[in-house]
Amino acid sequence: MLLTPLRVIYIFTGEYDRAEVEPPVLPLRQYEQSARQIHDQAGRPTDWPDPRGVAIEWGWRVVPMKAGRASTTGETIFYRASAQPRMRGLMVWHEIAHCYLREAYPDCGEADAWLLTGALVLSWRHAKMPREWAIDRQSHAPDWFLDARRDYVLWHSTLPAIWAAE
Ligand SMILES: [Zn+2]
Repeated sequence: MLLTPLRVIYIFTGEYDRAEVEPPVLPLRQYEQSARQIHDQAGRPTDWPDPRGVAIEWGWRVVPMKAGRASTTGETIFYRASAQPRMRGLMVWHEIAHCYLREAYPDCGEADAWLLTGALVLSWRHAKMPREWAIDRQSHAPDWFLDARRDYVLWHSTLPAIWAAE
C-alpha cells in the first residue's frame, strides 16, 4: 500500500498511531538483514540497481499500469508507468518488500513493509553518508524518503543497543 509521505515518515519516527498502522513485529536488525539478502540474491548487478531488475531476479513479474496505485499479488508487482522515476522506484521497492515479507514473515504488516523498504533503498552504512551523496546515488527513491530513512538510522545509531548489534 502506498501511504502519503507524512504517514510513511510517522512510521520511521515510530508514531504508528498517527501513521494509522499496526506497530512493526520484527526486531530492527531483521530489516537490515532481509534487505541484504534481497540484494545478494538478486546478484547485485550494480550498487544502486533499478528495483524492477531486482524483482525479476527474485521471480516476481513487474507490470506497468496506465493508472492506479502500486500493488502486488505476491507474484506480480503492478506500478504506475507514468510516475516520476524516483516515485516509481519507491513503489517497486515497497512492493518488493511486501512480496518478500509475505513469504518470509506472514505476520508482518504495513509498518514492517515500510521499514524494509527503507533498508532496501539505503543500507545502514549508506544512510550515514551525507544527504547529497545519498540523493545523487539512489535515484530510485524520492528525496523525502531518503531523508526519512537517514533520520531513522541516525536516530537509532545513537542507541547503545544498536551499536552492540552492529
Ligand atoms: Zn504497503
